[in-house]
Amino acid sequence: MSQANKSGWKPEMTPERRSGQETVTGNRALMLEEPLLFEIGHAETTGVDLPEIEPGASRRLAGMERSDPIGLAGLSEPETIRHYTRLSRQNYAIDLGLFPLGSCTMKHNPRLNEKVARMPGFADVHPLQPVETVRGALEVINELAFWLIDLTGMHGVAMSPKAGAHGELCGILCIRAALEARGDAREVILVPESAHGTNPATAAFAGYKVEDIPATPEGRVDLDALKARLGPDVAGVMITNPNTCGLFERDMKAISDAVHAAGGFVYCDGANFNAIVGKVRPGDLGVDAMHINLHKTFSTPHGGGGPGSGPVVLSEALSPYGPLPYTARTKDGVVHLVEEEGAEAFSQEHFGGRMRSFGRMTAFHGQMGMFTRALTYMLSHGADGLRQVAEDAVLNANYILRSLDDVLHAPFGDSGPCMHEALFGDKGFADGLSTLDLAKGLIDEGYHPMTMYFPLVVHGAMLVEPTETESKAGLDQFIAAFRSVAERARAGDESLKQAPYHAPRRRLDETQAARKPVLAWQEDEAPAGTPTRSERGGS
Ligand SMILES: *Cc1c(COP(=O)(O)O)cnc(C)c1O
Repeated sequence: MSQANKSGWKPEMTPERRSGQETVTGNRALMLEEPLLFEIGHAETTGVDLPEIEPGASRRLAGMERSDPIGLAGLSEPETIRHYTRLSRQNYAIDLGLFPLGSCTMKHNPRLNEKVARMPGFADVHPLQPVETVRGALEVINELAFWLIDLTGMHGVAMSPKAGAHGELCGILCIRAALEARGDAREVILVPESAHGTNPATAAFAGYKVEDIPATPEGRVDLDALKARLGPDVAGVMITNPNTCGLFERDMKAISDAVHAAGGFVYCDGANFNAIVGKVRPGDLGVDAMHINLHKTFSTPHGGGGPGSGPVVLSEALSPYGPLPYTARTKDGVVHLVEEEGAEAFSQEHFGGRMRSFGRMTAFHGQMGMFTRALTYMLSHGADGLRQVAEDAVLNANYILRSLDDVLHAPFGDSGPCMHEALFGDKGFADGLSTLDLAKGLIDEGYHPMTMYFPLVVHGAMLVEPTETESKAGLDQFIAAFRSVAERARAGDESLKQAPYHAPRRRLDETQAARKPVLAWQEDEAPAGTPTRSERGGS
């Protein structure tokens, strides 16, 4: 039980509390402490008035009525609203400020998208509605599919995967289906050292052996090493382009040609498409399958585990194996949605009967809410606007890279301009100070930290992706904050080791949080004398 809930509660007046260094409530200025719902609610309280149970009503429940109290915490409406509003203020969000997480593309999400996604015909659509009543929704999916096919220069697209990693699985299953169809059981997927963790995880999940491809000193795939490893056991490669060092893989076409010549397929992780949308078509680089994170490149609020949407575009070679429903460009160039019923006829007409869909990724068509947001974003930007998105994202990242490369080590600073994200390492920090300390110092400056310790190829990596939606003034303020903390790390400012000082919580035990997460509240978990949450958090 939190002290805040004890009636007639009188806090112990410690010297810290008396002197005002520590508040009696645990609150910090206008940031309010918030106990758990279970700690502040009462089972006997309710925020709504329920009608009296009519005599005989329980008979209709055929003996299934609840016999014990449900045990949920009850609060009044204002208590409930305050609880969630206070919690939301302890969170950092893109609507509060720049969110520099590299690889995540945390861009502003235009409110127009939200308005369209909330239109009743889209927001209320149900997957089991009669098809005549969802023509508009299907048209949205088809229009979006057309844009994705067009922007990537690919043959078709599976819209149903629910996020990037799910899209990777879809692409790898297509590759496996294509190989099996020609009776060619290959066992190995090659993945560069700098790959996002989902890539090797996907390949392993699909039953492949994963082998690393080394990087060159300038941070790109080592083409010679890749060529040397290709052979009849290699099903394909998974390459992120632009890669996680923030660099464009200039040899992509040569990589694809070599992989194809060896009988394999090229999977491209398209999570970084934001950097090249409207500029480069992956289809022209020989890519066979690529997922697109609609929630990154095409703006949908994300983070904290969702929601997402990861359509997968496929080359002509892989299209016949795509999952259903599938959207393909027909011989006459029209984009056509292939569903279960029409699949046979479509396959006959367009693939000479070769269509051998490997199955389905989801029960229905995919994430309608993300589709409406992404298409709204595309239509409101237009093709020229999307090209400018890429250009501005790259410009902003290079501005950060060149504004900070005198105080932070830029391991690939000599490899030419970066793409959409700037990568730094911890070389030059004073002994005993780390990337983690810098990240905590940034919190005190009011910024969510950048992506850290990824990619693994750079020691103490800091990956910063500003996106195109930040103004120069916003970038300058961020750079000034980052610079000041970086200077403290170089100068050996020991106070950084205790940061953050100003956050609602001080430095947490991250090992304990990962190894022993406490995810559910249990009544008997807090024996008498247990410190309140604020006391625990303060230590
Ligand atoms: C985000 C990301 C993924 C995974 O996408 P999810 O939608 O989070 O599943 C894969 N690769 C890269 C490079 C990413 O940035």
